[in-house]
Amino acid sequence: MTAKLIKGTEIREQILEEITAEVAQIKEKHGVVPGLVTILVGENPASVSYVTLKIKTAHRVGFKEIQDNQPEDISEDQLLALIDKYNKDDSIHGILVQLPLPKHIDEKKVINAIDPDKDVDGFHPVNVGRLMIGGDEVKFPPCTPAGIQEMIVRSGVETSGAEVVVVGRSNIVGKPIANMMLQKGPGANSTVTVVHTRTRDIAYHCKRADILIVAAGVPGLVKPEWIKPGSCVIDVGVNRVGEKISEKTGKKVAILRGDVDFEAAKEIAGYITPVPGGVGPMTITMLMKNTLKSLKFKLGID
Ligand code: NAP
Repeated sequence: MTAKLIKGTEIREQILEEITAEVAQIKEKHGVVPGLVTILVGENPASVSYVTLKIKTAHRVGFKEIQDNQPEDISEDQLLALIDKYNKDDSIHGILVQLPLPKHIDEKKVINAIDPDKDVDGFHPVNVGRLMIGGDEVKFPPCTPAGIQEMIVRSGVETSGAEVVVVGRSNIVGKPIANMMLQKGPGANSTVTVVHTRTRDIAYHCKRADILIVAAGVPGLVKPEWIKPGSCVIDVGVNRVGEKISEKTGKKVAILRGDVDFEAAKEIAGYITPVPGGVGPMTITMLMKNTLKSLKFKLGID
């Protein structure tokens, strides 16, 4: 069997078109557009490229976008004052502080300083709590897990009653996606198991999974014999395993591999995400969705 590919690049385009149309409607009716600010401290190349892409995407969907770049030596107090300024700015509905921050700044303090109603990354403890409660309480699900759930739902994979196994228990992927899949409601209602480095027999659990979500950061960790035939395999891992010269640009680019042995797994699974081009493109897309949601909450519209 050859699995159906779940392409994040295609789903991204659908969602961004939906967001663009909704932004235009809201602008016409209410005279306002979602406002997103990204705060970047320093010049870490990976962070620069993430922020640039976020701002470019925000522009594409019709948001007001501000890229606020700050020097590496900004003090913690200055950064907190900047966040306070955007918390009070009515034209800003989403505040994103690009992580990681330099060592002299306490990341927790910074995340906690963001108004939970503008925390479109969903990392503030209030939003983590809201996610845990589920249902109407949820405001901003964290972007990568929200993207994973969206991919599963849009691919028509049944989640209700499904055995979901999540490999990894990080705060940004493993724990939130496990929590989201076990909630009572559409796109969830699953029976969830989370495995990690202390799990006695990871293969045993993976083999039972109707939906296997892998976020370990270990290239090729999941072997083909761990995959249940016909199951849905979501590979969140993005691992740099070398470099190559791009045919398009002639420049050196990273060779990326997922956490799943893709070539073998695609012959067994029913659905599978590729790396790159799978979960990756969904994260920024869901950031746009959360920012639009933030404005809609403020306007009191669905
Ligand atoms: P993380 O914070 O390093 O967490 C990795 C988790 O996987 C930990 O819970 C760890 O267990 C578990 N793990 C590691 N090796 C394992 C093994 N051999 N067997 C079982 N469990 C193992 O990583 P993360 O931030 O969640 O990211 C995971 C992967 O997803 C990375 O490749 C990252 O680049 C990728 N990622 C992609 C996106 C995107 O596409 N947009 C977003 C976020 C992350 P312990 O807790 O026991 O240590």
